[in-house]
Amino acid sequence: MTTTDELKKPLEGRHALITGAARGIGAEIARALASEGARLSLLGRRRDALQQLADTLPGTGHAVVVADVADAESVTAAFAQARAALGPIAILVNNAGQAESAPFHKTSLALWQRMLGVNLTGSFLCAQAALPDMLQAGWGRIVNIASTAGQKGYPYVSAYVAAKHGVVGLTRALALEVARKGVTVNAVCPGYTDTDILQDSIANVVAKTGRSAEEALAEFSAGNPQQRVVQPAEVADAVRWLCGAAAASINGQSISVSGGEVM
Ligand code: NAP
Repeated sequence: MTTTDELKKPLEGRHALITGAARGIGAEIARALASEGARLSLLGRRRDALQQLADTLPGTGHAVVVADVADAESVTAAFAQARAALGPIAILVNNAGQAESAPFHKTSLALWQRMLGVNLTGSFLCAQAALPDMLQAGWGRIVNIASTAGQKGYPYVSAYVAAKHGVVGLTRALALEVARKGVTVNAVCPGYTDTDILQDSIANVVAKTGRSAEEALAEFSAGNPQQRVVQPAEVADAVRWLCGAAAASINGQSISVSGGEVM
């Protein structure tokens, strides 16, 4: 006989907030968590794109909130709106990110600060905004989308690499602080993944080197032992797993989704 509990989806009743949800990896994470029954707050900079996604997700009543994750006031306001719409936040996925490239000697202070702002400070601000709800409930999940660039170096993206190493450090420190409170904090570290960020990087290589788009893609795939780029759904599935009850012992980890590029 099937009990009501067995029919329940794994994340049913949980409020999950996903930053940078409108496209790419964030949109796939939204699909994965909504399929598990979570009620979502989709956070990003473009309301229309977020609403379009919300309208296509499984489940009903998902909320859309607009914020720049690098801006403290806008994060505070967006989290208050999300909480007012769907109640305390149980799951936070810090996915919003940008990856601008430049040789180190051409890395301006403005570029440096932009990369740290969106990738690292954004994760800090959103974690601070969500954590009180999780501590109050005695249950929570924070998943930071870092990168293999948080696990190893790459040339010409020093600001991005520094920011993503920072995200991995933040993940480890916070995981220890909340280890006895029912909250886990982990990072998922994709290798090159087939989204707009990769398409922009390919366009950049084509513009700067005169190589073809196929050659540029082959270069990005070459670092992955499987000789391919990662699919957003593969990243989303790692996030889905970390958010579930069965992953309660996984804490402070940086899980590389990169075909073995980092091991
Ligand atoms: P994407 O397609 O460019 O999407 C990035 C998302 O972040 C967009 O929805 C964007 O919103 C949002 N965003 C950017 N800056 C923001 C800000 N200041 N405030 C709020 N939202 C902001 O990139 P993606 O490939 O899916 O990347 C998602 C995450 O995975 C990033 O953290 C990235 O560093 C990481 N990652 C990507 C790869 C890869 O190869 N693709 C590899 C490793 C790690 P808008 O739509 O408004 O621009």
